[in-house]
Amino acid sequence: MPRTTSVSGIEVSVDHWVGGERLASDATFPDISPLDQQVLANVARGGPREVSAAVDAASAAFPQWAATPRTERAALLHAVAEGIEKRVDDLALVETLDNGGLLRSHRRSVIPRAAYNFHFFADFLLQLGHEDFETRGHRNHISWQPAGVTAVITPWNAPLMLATWRVAPALAAGNTVVLKPPEWAPLTASLLADITAEAGLPPGVFNVVQGIGEEAGAALVRDPRVRRIAFTGSVATARAIGHAAAENVIPVSFELGGKNPFIVFPDADLDLAVRHAVDQYDNAGQVCLAGTRLYVADAVYDEFLERFLQAAAAWRVGDPRSEDVDMGPQIHPDHLARIDGYVRRAKAAGATVLLGGGPHPELGGLYYQPTLLTNVADDSEINREEVFGPVIVLHRFTDEDEVIRRANDNIYGLAAMVFTGDRSRAERVADRLVAGTVWVNCFYVRDLRAPFGGARLSGIGREGGTWSFDFYAEVKNTVTAPSGWLIKEANG
Ligand code: NAD
Repeated sequence: MPRTTSVSGIEVSVDHWVGGERLASDATFPDISPLDQQVLANVARGGPREVSAAVDAASAAFPQWAATPRTERAALLHAVAEGIEKRVDDLALVETLDNGGLLRSHRRSVIPRAAYNFHFFADFLLQLGHEDFETRGHRNHISWQPAGVTAVITPWNAPLMLATWRVAPALAAGNTVVLKPPEWAPLTASLLADITAEAGLPPGVFNVVQGIGEEAGAALVRDPRVRRIAFTGSVATARAIGHAAAENVIPVSFELGGKNPFIVFPDADLDLAVRHAVDQYDNAGQVCLAGTRLYVADAVYDEFLERFLQAAAAWRVGDPRSEDVDMGPQIHPDHLARIDGYVRRAKAAGATVLLGGGPHPELGGLYYQPTLLTNVADDSEINREEVFGPVIVLHRFTDEDEVIRRANDNIYGLAAMVFTGDRSRAERVADRLVAGTVWVNCFYVRDLRAPFGGARLSGIGREGGTWSFDFYAEVKNTVTAPSGWLIKEANG
């Protein structure tokens, strides 16, 4: 008997999705809404048994999916994208109730981007396979062959968008997928399963196993039939997954944390810089790309700070379903406690609180205040570690070499933001920053043809465009002798 839950009138299955059917587990785990901390759903709690069934289904579906002509695969992926587009409102609301992100952002950008992930990789698939060149008359033909069952493991901060960013290229490459969604926000993955079925994806091509990371996730990455692991999440989990991948000698694509520098030079457009700096509180600071180390040049520091505080004061915290709100709650009580622990320890170590500095005094619940701290040492915990909450640390700097050195002095290297009116400075600084992405006078402009990923502990590998296919596929080179030789052979 399939089990569903009604989330604000939207029916969502709480079971796994395996081989084109719902699969229940004896055990469940409670999924709590960050809005009121009430149980939204009791979700099936998968383990080795469910993972094994899902990998069975994905393995059985693989040969036929891999052999499906690209145009057909692309058409099915476009159909999935259209299915997401048709259900944007449902998906946006379920995501907001499940992870606390803004409903208007989910509707306008985050869920449409999930659909676009499928459209983009469906189109990109059809351009692949034309990288031919000659060696002494011999033709090198480079092709991307399906690799097998792909494990996709994702976090809660943008669950559907981040899942589809990995699932779409994996399916486009001809792989079959087992997705393990985050236990703090598992519901939109379940709706995605319905959408793939309605789009006509054959059974077993896409599977979802719900559950706890150390149970379902760990069993999935250990399964020797898995040929690729795409993981987005924390460094600690990446280490555990890396050990399992090493055991089976399979490639991983890791998208991990960040403590990204945001640098404002004296010649920057301050209005623009302030607007983007305050935007770093987006999604309650639960964004891997957020620029949470803010470096402002001495010459403009006072003016920048005054304008930042003004802009941040206008930032509205509250129910993420409201159109007038800029920031909702943190995802979970444990996460709120983790964020507050960082802030308390920073204060005890001598940090000055310029803004916020604790849970929201009026709203209570899981609401935290946008927080700006200064007087923090470069080697302090709050300056080095990812808080993953609405907490920014502010520094002054004097010259270019100094700020580059300090910006690069971190274990992460995901992104960096540079604000300057001087083009040659922008190029020089961008070149020297250790980061997978550098944004100059902008933030979060993403083209899916571009490589995305992190340096240092921010990850392993790059995805986007060809880089995604390089990871999900087995790249093959077929070298064919000159046609004259072939004719001679045939005649002779
Ligand atoms: P997490 O590592 O705790 O969990 C991520 C996923 O891994 C979850 O689905 C979880 O169930 C699973 N998991 C946990 N333990 C596991 C194990 N032993 N084996 C297999 N799977 C396991 O991370 P989180 O707290 O959900 O997410 C926050 C982190 O994600 C932050 O560090 C953030 O920066 C990062 N992130 C990175 C990007 C990026 O693109 N670089 C994007 C979003 C989030």
